[in-house]
Amino acid sequence: MKDIFFDLDDTIFDFKKAEAIAMKTTLEHYGIEPTQDVIHLYSVINQSQWELLEKKLLTKNEVKIRRFKLFLDALMHTAKPEEVAAFYENRLSIGHYFIEGAEEMLRALHGAYRLHLVSNGVYEVAMSRLNSSTIVPLFDHIFISGALGVDKPAKEFFDACFAQISDFDPAQAVIVGDSLTSDILGGKNAGITTIWFNPHQKSATSIIPDYEINNLGEIEELLHVL
Ligand SMILES: [Mg+2]
Repeated sequence: MKDIFFDLDDTIFDFKKAEAIAMKTTLEHYGIEPTQDVIHLYSVINQSQWELLEKKLLTKNEVKIRRFKLFLDALMHTAKPEEVAAFYENRLSIGHYFIEGAEEMLRALHGAYRLHLVSNGVYEVAMSRLNSSTIVPLFDHIFISGALGVDKPAKEFFDACFAQISDFDPAQAVIVGDSLTSDILGGKNAGITTIWFNPHQKSATSIIPDYEINNLGEIEELLHVL
């Protein structure tokens, strides 16, 4: 293997933790008590909207507003979804939290492989979070869908990435990610090897990864045998 593509959220960065903290701050700002039920409600709505984006039924800008519109409607809250979305995005763009072992893994692989980030998201938000960490120099390329104009799992997303990598060979490339519907399906669409990072040991679906790991410490050894 020569090129390794890493998903960002919930593979390198603990997005669930960042999301929870940004959400708590946002709810409190708008006078909503951040109970577990309220936070769970938002998570379910948010996930459903991202799945619609992956199916190309919504744009990213629509997702950013719609998730709050549906959430505020469910709570019968009168705040403007656009305003709440902007407040939340601002909070989310501040800081980062690593998935256990992520930083150590990247430093161990750096130099032995070319590392690239592939993330669906808003370019400015992703870069703000990345720049608050020290991992940016470890990557040869940082590919954010907002800047490419197309999202994972589309083949076009990966084609745009591959075009920017010198001497790229899909047979020597692997993607590591936590999402079956965007990372693993995307890797399959693009014709590269897929490794599903499945820390909570969810059961697989109709999307079958080539390999599965439960913690990031397993990657180095696995790459040796690929
Ligand atoms: Mg992810």
